[in-house]
Amino acid sequence: MAERVIPLVVERPAGRPVAVPAQPQPADGRLVDTLERPLRDLRISVTDRCNFRCSYCMPKEVFDKDYPYLPHAALLSFEEITRVARQFAAHGVRKIRLTGGEPLLRKNIEILIEQLAALRTVDGAPLDLTLTTNGSLLARKARALKDAGLHRVTVSLDGLDDAVFRTMNDVDFPVADVLAGIDAAQAAGLGLIKINMVVKRGTNDHEILPMARHFRGTGHVLRFIEYMDVGATNGWRMDEVLPSVEVIARIHAQLPLVPLEPAAPGETAQRWAYADGGGEVGVISSVTQAFCGDCNRARLSTEGQLYLCLFASQGHDLRSLIRGGASDDQLAGAIAAIWQGRADRYSQLRGQLQPDTGGGQRRVEMSYIGG
Ligand code: SAM
Ligand code: SF4
Ligand code: SF4
Repeated sequence: MAERVIPLVVERPAGRPVAVPAQPQPADGRLVDTLERPLRDLRISVTDRCNFRCSYCMPKEVFDKDYPYLPHAALLSFEEITRVARQFAAHGVRKIRLTGGEPLLRKNIEILIEQLAALRTVDGAPLDLTLTTNGSLLARKARALKDAGLHRVTVSLDGLDDAVFRTMNDVDFPVADVLAGIDAAQAAGLGLIKINMVVKRGTNDHEILPMARHFRGTGHVLRFIEYMDVGATNGWRMDEVLPSVEVIARIHAQLPLVPLEPAAPGETAQRWAYADGGGEVGVISSVTQAFCGDCNRARLSTEGQLYLCLFASQGHDLRSLIRGGASDDQLAGAIAAIWQGRADRYSQLRGQLQPDTGGGQRRVEMSYIGG
């Protein structure tokens, strides 16, 4: 078995300076990158902090009391986030997902949601506004989030067994409180609720069937995520990845499944329905089956760096542009130029790259650019 190496220093690279194109770029929603991929989905990390210490994301040994979290002044303000998001919407974004870190730890997040809910796509429709959370604060906040204009939530939950769950979050947080959060989200009307389970072979893979049984027939969509080699601190090893085909085989042996068509182009999950009509499950095979070909996602880090891929080693420094006094047209032009130069497809190339390099340099952490 390969030795696990966890670097104790975390790098947060300075963003690439962003140039403003000399010619204005029309923002008509038709922007594509070098591989003809449109821009449809923007994920915004609103904090780099979290109250969990999931070992695959923010391991305790690295994210301890001395970890240099970003100071408040480094974070994009709600006004700055909304201003950037408006330009993304003009370039074709239809969906915004708030993430982190734990997004519900960002103070007054409801105010940001209200501002984002007022934005429109190029066709004049509201954006699909959603949020990914560990669920720990959801019971308390679901109603306010809905009232602010949030449409849906995705809740991360890595097991139903309390002992397994407490080990996965590594802060001894009880599973009952997350289940109460899911119920509160449903009661508040934040459906369709997706439940994300990261599967680590040997740690929580025995929870796959109990999770499938629990959420079958509830109307919530359970999705199994392959443990990914994101960041540089989780000591990732291929032998801890349980391929999605195996997840589906295990469920199918007990609860027969039939394949479904993707709901939308660029969708990350492959969908399966229970043959008896008990709803659906999904698998996100980020490691064993690359889906870069139609990846239409951009990520805005907590401090306003634009990342074009989850595995990128550097972002584009939009914050300096905004704080340097750029006009909306200049901001829109800069975003267009960055997307037009995009060629990222890490998952497709993974096998050809050196391990732990992200293609030459160390990758940034998921808690910083958002999942
Ligand atoms: N704190 C929130 C949460 O856990 O839902 C939002 C941020 S978290 C970074 C977003 C998603 O990334 C979660 O569903 C989490 O399980 C997933 N994630 C984090 N590290 C991962 C890894 N190494 N492999 C696969 N998924 C991961
Ligand atoms: Fe926190 Fe989410 Fe990362 Fe877990 S996956 S440590 S809950 S940010
Ligand atoms: Fe998109 Fe990068 Fe993931 Fe490929 S590896 S699907 S380009 S985020």
